[in-house]
Amino acid sequence: MSKQILILPGDGIGPEIVAEAVKVLEQANQQFGLGVELSYDELGGGAYDKYGVPLADETLERARQADAILLGAVGGPKWDTIDPALRPERGLLKIRSQLGLFGNLRPALLYPQLAAASSLKPEIVAGLDILIVRELTGGIYFGSPRENRVLENGERQAYDTLPYSESEIRRIAKVGFDMARVRSKKLCSVDKANVLASSQLWRTVVEEVAKDYPDVELSHMYVDNAAMQLVRAPKQFDVIVTDNMFGDILSDEASMLTGSIGMLPSASLDARNKGMYEPCHGSAPDIAGKGIANPLATILSVSMMLRYTFNQGAAADAIEQAVSVVLDQGLRTGDIWSEGCQKVGTREMGDAVVAALRNL
Ligand code: NAD
Repeated sequence: MSKQILILPGDGIGPEIVAEAVKVLEQANQQFGLGVELSYDELGGGAYDKYGVPLADETLERARQADAILLGAVGGPKWDTIDPALRPERGLLKIRSQLGLFGNLRPALLYPQLAAASSLKPEIVAGLDILIVRELTGGIYFGSPRENRVLENGERQAYDTLPYSESEIRRIAKVGFDMARVRSKKLCSVDKANVLASSQLWRTVVEEVAKDYPDVELSHMYVDNAAMQLVRAPKQFDVIVTDNMFGDILSDEASMLTGSIGMLPSASLDARNKGMYEPCHGSAPDIAGKGIANPLATILSVSMMLRYTFNQGAAADAIEQAVSVVLDQGLRTGDIWSEGCQKVGTREMGDAVVAALRNL
């Protein structure tokens, strides 16, 4: 049966990096007989320009029909001043929530070849391999009411709401435990249960789910401590499960431990492992169109897609190995470049990964 993949290149560097990831996907398709079929559409600023909204109904329908989605990134200064309800990021939030993509997997893995690119000492980060499981469709980014208002005394006030229901916590906790089970069997749940009611329920429900996973060692940590521990001794973590906002912040922090956000893929999964795959970084308008963006995060997102949605572990391993070969060859885009390495552009990096994959 063919595998339908919807490609949403997005804005800024999105089309450049997605083009390279598609080359790698097509090579893997040929080499491993995956049977993938690709179709294309717009999300974000490009969709606003074409359809007048950041996510058109027809695009959403196409996404529903697809088995997996590959996204570049959305946003840019061109759309910063439009109606906030129509901003590119709203399209991203909408597609995640409409498709029920509640489980966001964000690995922070340091390739040994890039240990020097980290802002931390090599001995603290060497061998780092953390998986952050972030709840993606609930919590404060979606909670209502939310409001900007003017009080009777004339002062401006704004507030958001942070709701979590038991079922939302239970399903993301299960993803965390399942991931821990196939890794080192250690799960750290991050919350702010000393202050927030939503975190107190979070902790209670995670404890309940833990009863079904007696082989996984569960620990809890407050988010402020987790932020500190991530830079003090990051290798103490293996799998972290946390809510939407805490996961947003901690995964960006973890990404910098690895040297460049240009290396980090992500997966957003629904209950049946249908997923949207995208690099962790944004649309990098500062370097868009220059042909210098690092396509490896997007290429590694393709590898995650093959692993988690299509169960093609061998093809996924091969793509990761090809990336490693290219790093061994000393090829680097500007964001991960260091003395003695060969600086290459987006296209050369993509071509090198395709060649390495072909030669495995
Ligand atoms: P960003 O991730 O786009 O860029 C941050 C810095 O990292 C920039 O200096 C950029 O040049 C660099 N960078 C990012 N990806 C890179 C790559 N692949 N190769 C080399 N360097 C890379 O974050 P930002 O500047 O805060 O946001 C820019 C736009 O992206 C905004 O409109 C923002 O809303 C949007 N954004 C989108 C997503 C998404 O689509 N998922 C995520 C974050 C930000």
